[in-house]
This record gives sequence, C-alpha cells and structure tokens, in this order.
Amino acid sequence: MDLNKIMADLERKHPGESEYLQAVREVLESIEEVYNQHPEFEKAKIVERIVEPDRIFTFRVTWVDDKGEVQTNLGYRVQFNSAIGPYKGGLRFHKAVNPSMLKFLGFEQTFKNALTTLPMGGAKGGSDFDPVGKSDAEIMRFCQAFMTELWNNIGVDTDVPAGDVGVGGREIGFLNGMYQKLARKYHTGVLTGKGMTWGGSILRPEATGYGALYFVEHMLRMAGRSLEGATIALSGFGNVAWGAAKKATELGAKVIAISGPDGVVYNPNGMTDEKIDYMLELRASNRNIVAPFAERFPDATFTPGKKAWSVKCDIALPCAFQNELNGDDAAELLANGTWCCAEVSNMGCTPEAIHAFQQAGILFAPGKAVNAGGVATSGLEMTQNCMHLSWSGKEVDEKLHFIMESIHEACVKFGRQADGRVDYVKGANIAGFMKVAQAMLEQGII
Ligand code: GLU
Repeated sequence: MDLNKIMADLERKHPGESEYLQAVREVLESIEEVYNQHPEFEKAKIVERIVEPDRIFTFRVTWVDDKGEVQTNLGYRVQFNSAIGPYKGGLRFHKAVNPSMLKFLGFEQTFKNALTTLPMGGAKGGSDFDPVGKSDAEIMRFCQAFMTELWNNIGVDTDVPAGDVGVGGREIGFLNGMYQKLARKYHTGVLTGKGMTWGGSILRPEATGYGALYFVEHMLRMAGRSLEGATIALSGFGNVAWGAAKKATELGAKVIAISGPDGVVYNPNGMTDEKIDYMLELRASNRNIVAPFAERFPDATFTPGKKAWSVKCDIALPCAFQNELNGDDAAELLANGTWCCAEVSNMGCTPEAIHAFQQAGILFAPGKAVNAGGVATSGLEMTQNCMHLSWSGKEVDEKLHFIMESIHEACVKFGRQADGRVDYVKGANIAGFMKVAQAMLEQGII
C-alpha cells in the first residue's frame, strides 16, 4: 500500500474534510504493515474501496419552530460499509454536523461494529439541527420532518439507526413514531435505543458507559492496576458520561470531574446516586451547560472556560466529542500524573494527544474499542426484536461483559508489541480491518 498516494488522492477528492481524512490516516497507518503481508488485499484494492462510503443520502429537513417560523436544516445518512451485515450506526444532531464529520464517524463505526463480534455493517447520519434551547415540541417536529425523508432508506435488514450526540431516548421515540406511521406496518427493530415498553433493550441507555468501564477494567487488570480508589476526570454529562460515571463509581473509582461546553465541575468527593441522576436532568434540559451541577451540590465547584483535563486525575475519560483532548491537554494530564486515558467518545483525542500518551508509555485505548459496548447492545436489541422477546438485565449485562472481554482480547492479539506492551490503537484497527477486509475479499469486486 502506498499510504501517501492514497491519502493524497483522498485529499484531492474530499478537500477540507479534516475529520474524515484524520480518521482514515489513523487506521491506514496502523494497518500498513499487516496489509502489506496480504497481496490478495492489494490485488482487490481493498483499501481504496474500504475508505469510501457505499453511498450518502443528503436531504432537506424543513420544520416550523414554536414562533411559527419556518426552519430548514440538512439531513444525512452515510451508509458506509455492509460487508459483514446491515448498515448500523447512530444519528448525530449537532450544529457542526457536516459530511466530513459523518464520514469519519461512519468509517470508525465500520471497524467498531466488526470488533463487537456481531454481524453489523457501518453507518452514521444526522443533521446540523441544534437541539440547544429547543422545546420538546420543536424537537418532535424536527424528528418527524427528518424521518419523513429518511424512512425509505432504512429498515430492519437494510440500515438500523440509533442515537449519538444530541439523539437520546426522547428523539428515538419521535423518530420511531413517525417511521411506524409512514411504513403502515410495525417494524420493531428499525431503530435501536427504543423505550422499554416498545422493544428497547434493558441496559441500552447505560451500555456505552458500562462497556467502556468493563474494557478499562480489563486493560488495568492486565497492567497490574485497578479502578479501586482511582480518580477519574470525564468530559460531558450526557448519556455516555452518565453511564461511565455510574459504572466507575460502582467499581470503586472516584469521578472527580465532569465538564460541559461552559466549563468544568470539580467534584472532589466523587459521585452519589443523586448526583448521577442529576446528570440526566442536565442533559434533558437542552441547555448544554454543566454549571448548575455545582449550584445543586455545594461540595462541587464550577470553573468557567476550563476543560476536565485541567483536573489532576489518575484516569482521563473523554466522553463528549471528537478531538476534545488535544496535545496541550495531554501534556497537562501527563504533568499531573495521569496514567490511563480511554476514549469513550469517538476519536476523542487528537493525533498529537495520542502520540504524547504513547510516548509517555501510559495506558491508552481508542474509542472504537472502548465505546463499542453501545452499538454492541444495539445489536443485542436487534436480536431480541427479531426473536420477539426481551432478555433480563442480567442476561444483557453478561453478554456485554463477554463482548467487551472479546474486544480486549482482540486488541491484545493484534496489538502486542515486541517489548510485551499492548498498542491498543494498532490492535483495534488491525482486528477491525482484517475482519471487514476478509469479508469484502470473499464477496468479490462489488
Ligand atoms: N452512536 C453510537 C456509536 O458511536 C451507537 C450506535 C448504535 O447503537 O447504533 O457507536
């Protein structure tokens, strides 16, 4: 593989799509050596094919706000790769959503889904609709308008969307309601992250955060460390951060920082059930600020304009957005003695930050391995929907445990270095890539 030529071609075809180009480069750099040992991949031009989405739907979404004004947003669905199963991946509603962001997310999703051990292809979608400050009624009208365009391109065996940033249980409810109305036939498994009374899986809301902590547990165990008594700084306060805070606390760690776009909350005494529940209230308020946490709990303090990475901690867990932890943040964490960073958000760290962590020799694992428990549990939700039954929390949790352990094993298998240490970035990328590449090879040139 000629990495520079492939990247130059991509940059020419997709100018300025920085997140997408960043995600592709990271994967290709990790797999280059292994890829070159497989001339059959080279012959079938697997890399050139795997980096491009199968297709992208772009559509206009027009809706009416509470003031009676007409609003127009853009909607997208990127169907990235279906070599190992139907397209699967979340929807992101955020003002910064654009094709580059959704292509990076769809690309990552393809390998993440391969790691889960379940048969799911990769996809992503969403809109530049900004949920901040919107009423529930506005969110409902937007979701309905979005689904009016999307519904014909998704389906139980075609493409199964779910949540992501800005899309949680409430949005999935509105989207599903409109889908069923348009389809005129009940398709239970066309979206995942559904409510518990209409086909949702127990533990799906918690799954991304829980899975991440199960992965971190395995990583620490192998390194002779433990979560017991460790201090954790995490970014965000949405669904993913909530699940991570809940499981981290249950496993004996102390979550001493959470953050939002407005600043960081230092929480020296760790989380209580009440504090964890309050994170959900913050998310549901649609205000996208974390400051009220410190007003509600006086043992916590809010500092505006600062990130979670300014707090001295053992473990850093980015749980919010891509590139939220940069080279300077990594240097600050390392200077403060942080010895582990696990990306819970997709591509939460910049290449400079990853490089700094790897140079310093601390434990680091990438989002596609760490956060795969979310989509894996979506896969379990699809299975339950197909079988027309629902498993108990214990059953789902056991399966999630097993999947996260398998992902960790795959990372170790493909990422073990000559000095005995595990490069989790390489391990996750190679394991995910090999599975999808092999599937593409066996199914011919299509
Ligand atoms: N958006 C989540 C992710 O990045 C979940 C996707 C899903 O459940 O389909 O993996």
